[in-house]
Amino acid sequence: MSTKTERLDPWSIEDVEDYDRLIRVFGIERINDNLLRSLPFLNRYMRRRIVFGHRGLWEIIKAIKENRVYAVMSGIKPTGVFHFGSKITAEQIIYFQQLSPKAIVFYAVADIEAWEDNGIPLKESREIAVDNVADLLALGIDYKRLYVYRQSEEERVLRLSYVFARGLTYNLLEAIYGEKHIGMYMSALVQVADILLPQLEEFGGPKPTIVPVGVDQDPHIRLTRDIARKYSREYGFILPSSVYHKLQKSLTGSGKMSKRDPMSYLTLNDSSKMVELKIKRAFTGGRETAELQRKLGGRPEICVVYQLWLYHVDDDVKVSRVFEECKSGKRICGECKLELIEEINKFLEKHKERKEKFRDLARELLERKKYTLESLKNII
Ligand code: SF4
Repeated sequence: MSTKTERLDPWSIEDVEDYDRLIRVFGIERINDNLLRSLPFLNRYMRRRIVFGHRGLWEIIKAIKENRVYAVMSGIKPTGVFHFGSKITAEQIIYFQQLSPKAIVFYAVADIEAWEDNGIPLKESREIAVDNVADLLALGIDYKRLYVYRQSEEERVLRLSYVFARGLTYNLLEAIYGEKHIGMYMSALVQVADILLPQLEEFGGPKPTIVPVGVDQDPHIRLTRDIARKYSREYGFILPSSVYHKLQKSLTGSGKMSKRDPMSYLTLNDSSKMVELKIKRAFTGGRETAELQRKLGGRPEICVVYQLWLYHVDDDVKVSRVFEECKSGKRICGECKLELIEEINKFLEKHKERKEKFRDLARELLERKKYTLESLKNII
């Protein structure tokens, strides 16, 4: 993040050092105990405060309490295999779907953005998307309450983005995103349309919408809320809500886990050998020697391996044990890594098995042969 311009760049942010600062600078609301107590249950991202901020989450809590329909909106840029950073977003979508039988997930395959930002042709991103959606299904989404689409094929999204473009100036986009080429601004507008799509008449009209994302995506949310306000008279939009999770660090210890550097992240397709290689090379908060570590303890706060424990291992007792043993010097990095490799590989083995069973369904969903808008009609 550039401290001079006070901007977050959703396409190229490296890392966030100070999340409190983002809360102050961008007016993000803090996730507090009161809010957490109002949710029917918490997943590990919520209870461990990996999700640290939000905009308008109360709107969703109200909808849950009143048993009203709400949308959970998110998506993926089909540029490659699902990495563990995307897994956080996917599990957050699933969590918000599980909070109420009235929650419907809208999942955009951002193929236009994959072309604009990464130069991936639409034909290529079609196949990548099948793999990505199979991951989402294997992670546990209820596909009977899911609407999946490719941006390039969802005419309503494209139409909306043109409507919104009329009300925007270059200066406003430049103020939010910095200087970008027009294609990037357009793909931002398409994302705004994605987020507001669930509120169109065809989908049952205005409704609360929650967008779970990494905090680097906040500029899109701010723009969407501005546009929703502007077009509320015409479309009746309710301002969409968002929750923000902290970013998964790169395995190398610098920057966030990014698709641009394959050794910087774990993927859901990695072989057990690859997981071993990547974790063994990962940056830790360990000391120079085992002796020093026993004496001074490790530094889980800056350790990428500990972050993987914290973000991706569900067992609270086990994760606090890792933290305590690290701090006290009882735990040494080599053993800690081996234990984590076993945990991750156990998870991946089961995940891959499940994923294979969902591959055909993923294709059918993307080709709109199953669970289309029609089948959602009984909920909306
Ligand atoms: S013992 Fe584990 S948690 Fe502690 S610094 Fe080493 S790798 Fe990180």
